[in-house]
Amino acid sequence: MKKIFIFTVFALSAALAYSQAKYVFLFVGDGMGFGAVTLTEDYLAALSAKKPGSGTLAFSTFPATGFATTYSASSLVTCSAASGTAFACGSKTRNGRLGMNEDATESFTSIACRLKEKGYKVGISTSVSIDHATPAAFYAHQPSRSMYYEVAQDLAKSGFDFFSGAGFLNPLGKDGQQESVFGLIAQNGYTVVRSLADCQSSTAPKLLLLQPESKPQNAYPYAIDKASDDYTLAQTTTLAIEKLQGGKGFFLMVEGGKIDWASHSNDAGSMVREVIDLSDAVKVALDFYRKYPKQTLIVVTADHETGGLGVGSGEGGNIGIQGLEKQKASEEMLNLLLEKATSYSELKSWLTTNMGITITYNDEVTLRNLFAASAEVPPASDDTPCTLKSTESVTKSIMRMVSAKSGGGYSTFGHTGTMVPVYAIGEGSDLFRGKIDNTDIPKKIAKAAKVEWK
Ligand SMILES: [Zn+2]
Repeated sequence: MKKIFIFTVFALSAALAYSQAKYVFLFVGDGMGFGAVTLTEDYLAALSAKKPGSGTLAFSTFPATGFATTYSASSLVTCSAASGTAFACGSKTRNGRLGMNEDATESFTSIACRLKEKGYKVGISTSVSIDHATPAAFYAHQPSRSMYYEVAQDLAKSGFDFFSGAGFLNPLGKDGQQESVFGLIAQNGYTVVRSLADCQSSTAPKLLLLQPESKPQNAYPYAIDKASDDYTLAQTTTLAIEKLQGGKGFFLMVEGGKIDWASHSNDAGSMVREVIDLSDAVKVALDFYRKYPKQTLIVVTADHETGGLGVGSGEGGNIGIQGLEKQKASEEMLNLLLEKATSYSELKSWLTTNMGITITYNDEVTLRNLFAASAEVPPASDDTPCTLKSTESVTKSIMRMVSAKSGGGYSTFGHTGTMVPVYAIGEGSDLFRGKIDNTDIPKKIAKAAKVEWK
């Protein structure tokens, strides 16, 4: 009898030892609402010439699914700083605040810091600058998300183990006269590497993987525009796992930051490729989960929806989703073209080649009106190079027109207040079922990791 009792206690404690999320992944598609997920799956189905509904992302078939509210303390429509604060720190705040309460008098503690205190290693990864609102919500406490220099100082002091992103936006301060944040980062024991190979071979305990200095420091190129040496989120996620393994456990947040940027420009073709880039990174985490299914939790969600994207552009019927495949360049490339003095004929030819669209009579009218309204000086002919007053607004209007041809029906160039999807698999994933508030997300992660939330 005693033997049976001892065996039972042993078996129970062994079972309990495994009922804890020791490895936690949180993937955030910035701006990735239901429309973005649906349109990307429709695109994948169209690519493989299968029936509608047959395309799946790595996370959309996770067993636990729900949806999260996104409103902030100051608005029904949140910004990434307030929503990041909500799902990193478990509290609502005003739009623009980062890791602080509404009147910026109190700093919150993020789930990353709480797990770090319990011995977990922490990694923060993004496809935009590492001081941007979503990654910063896990380590920074600043009254304004645009205080990039101060945010970078908070990163240096965070004690987290791994960071990856494009670079810093203001490493010398807004006036360019401050002490470089790279000095402070080095003083705090971090090694900065600027290639995947250097990251792989480094044995430094605290690492910061950034893009080479020859590349933009504000973001990775869009997936649709990437060169062969540009980083993907799957690559940086693989490296992050390698660097974070071997301790008591780890927490890794991975942000697909340019889903939001493409959506702000109503660029559906670039957006779907950004969602796929994030999904490919989730596949890396899924491979890890299959090795440690009882100890791993993967959560995938968004901070808010961007663009008010619906599937269908108002004309109904066959929405021509295959057209997205013909798009070969992002809104950034179009904007670069427009920043040079470009003629209307050049623009038309560029759109046909790079956006893969057929320009109809109605499109001609729209494009000519856009060009005429924005030209510094009305062009004498279709072949006259023309300087535009605002390339950004023309780019966005053209991209909205291009996206509508493939079923990407946008209603705004900003964020919306709709709920966002939540997907979870692994230990504690049941906690994420149903309707939740975005402030519940870090509390549920803490519960899955058996860490008390006070
Ligand atoms: Zn945004």
